[in-house]
Amino acid sequence: MQVEIVTGSITEVICDALIVNLFEGVSMPTGATGAVDAALDGQIAGLIRGKQGAGKYGATSVLHICNGLGTRQVILLGLGKKEEFTLDRLRGVAGTAIRAAQKLDVRTVATVVHGAGQAGFDPQAAAQALVEGTLLGNYRFCCYKTGPDEVVIPEKLYIIEHDAQKVPQLTAGSERGQAVATAVNMTRSLVNHPANRMTPAKMAAQAAEIAAHHGLELQVLDKEEIAAQGMSAFLAVAQGSHEPPRLIVLKYNGNPGSQNLLALVGKGVTFDSGGISLKPSEGMQEMKDDMAGAAAVLGAMQAIAALRLPVNVAAVAPCTENLPSGYAFRPGDVIDSLGGKTIEIISTDAEGRLILADAITYAHRLGASHVVDLATLTGACVVALGTVASGVMANDRDLCGRVLAAAGAAGERMWELPLFEEYKEQIKSDIADLKNSGGRPAGAITAGLFLAAFAGAKPWVHVDIAGTVSSDKDSGYNVKGATGAGVRTLVRLAEDLGKW
Ligand code: MN
Ligand code: ZN
Repeated sequence: MQVEIVTGSITEVICDALIVNLFEGVSMPTGATGAVDAALDGQIAGLIRGKQGAGKYGATSVLHICNGLGTRQVILLGLGKKEEFTLDRLRGVAGTAIRAAQKLDVRTVATVVHGAGQAGFDPQAAAQALVEGTLLGNYRFCCYKTGPDEVVIPEKLYIIEHDAQKVPQLTAGSERGQAVATAVNMTRSLVNHPANRMTPAKMAAQAAEIAAHHGLELQVLDKEEIAAQGMSAFLAVAQGSHEPPRLIVLKYNGNPGSQNLLALVGKGVTFDSGGISLKPSEGMQEMKDDMAGAAAVLGAMQAIAALRLPVNVAAVAPCTENLPSGYAFRPGDVIDSLGGKTIEIISTDAEGRLILADAITYAHRLGASHVVDLATLTGACVVALGTVASGVMANDRDLCGRVLAAAGAAGERMWELPLFEEYKEQIKSDIADLKNSGGRPAGAITAGLFLAAFAGAKPWVHVDIAGTVSSDKDSGYNVKGATGAGVRTLVRLAEDLGKW
C-alpha cells in the first residue's frame, strides 16, 4: 500500500472512501469530522443521533453520499473514550478502519490522523501508529488461492493534514510506520507459508533477498559447515529430517565506531512434529509457525536496515525441521553442544532450546555484547500468559528493562517471568551437565533457565512468543494467522540502543 501525506481541505480530497472519527459520547462533531459534517449538511450529526454507539471503540458506520465531498463514501470510525485513547488503540482502530474499507470495494482511501488534534498526540508518533495499523490491518495472505480474491485491497492511503507545518513530522512518522509494517507483514508471510514451502533453504533465500535489497552482510552455513563449527545440539535436532538445515547470519553495521553488537537470535524450526516424542496429531498443522522467531529477527533486520539505525545488529537464525525417522535423535540420548556443555535429552519435542543454545554461543563468538532471542518455545508460556502477552526472561536488569520498555512503546504486550535459582533443580541431569526438559511445572521458566546456562554472563533476554505468534481472528491491526510478534519491539530496542 502506498502512503501519501496531503495538505489541504478534507472536504475536497478526491478518493474512493474517506475515514473520519468520533470519540464516544460526542454528539456534535468538531475538527475534521465537523468540517465533513458541515459539507454534508449535518448527516454525520444525524447518524450519531440515530445510531447509539457510533463512537464506541472500533465501531464503523458507512455513509453513502451523492455530493458535497470529493468521495462517495464516508467511514465514521469510533475511537472510544477520549481519556482511554492511546497510540496502540490508534494502531488498532486504524486496522479496523481499513478492513471496513476493504468491504467497500475501494482502491484509494483518505484518512485524518486520529487523535493528533483532540488526544494531543505527538504528530510523528501518531502518524507512525496510524500507518502501522493501516498497513498491518490491510494485510492479506492468499497466495495459494488460484481464484480471484474475494475482497479488493485498497492500494493507496492519503493522510490529510490541514496544517502544513506538521507535514515534516507526519512524513517522518509515516516513513517509519511503512518500514516497520512492511517488515512485520514480510514476517507474517514467512510464518503463514506452510512447511513444505518455507523450508530452511527457503528461509535462507529470503534472508538473501533482504541482504541484497538493504546491503546487509549475509552468511549461510549448510549442514557440513554447521558440523564443522561444532554445533552438535543444532545438528541433533536436524538429523531426523531429509530437509537440510541452515544457519542464517545477517549483519548490519550501522555504527562502525561502536564496540556494541546486538545479536537477535531466532528459533527457526520450520516444522516441529515433536520428533520421536511425537506431538498429538490434532493441531499439528500449526507447527509450521515454529520458525516465527527466526522470521521475526529477519523482519527486524529489514526494518532496522531500512531505517538506517545507528546500531550494530546481527541476526542469527538456526533453521531446521524436527521430524522422527531412523536417523532422529532419541529421548535418553546425551548430546554435545557448541558451548561445551553436555545435554541429556528427555524430550525430543524440547528441541527449540537445543538449537538456540548453539545459536547463542555462536552469537557470542561473533562478538555479540548483548543477545535477545525470540522463540515459539513452550506451550507452558501459553498456559501462563495466554495469547495476550509474550513471556520475557533475562539475566540482566538493564537489557530486560530496555526490552520491556521497547515492547511498551511498540504496543506489544510482554511480561517478565522469574529465573529463580530454585527452578534450576528441575533441569539437573544425573548423567550430563543439563537435561533438556524440566517437566510440566514452570515449563516456560525452566526452558529459559536452560538457555541462561548458555548465555553465561553476557547480557541476554529471552522472549517466548508461543502464545502471541498467531491470531485466531481478524482483530484491530491483527489479521487471522501470523501476527509478526516481536518485530516492532526489536526495532524499538534497536532505536533505543542506537543511543548507547
Ligand atoms: Mn517442540
Ligand atoms: Zn518447537
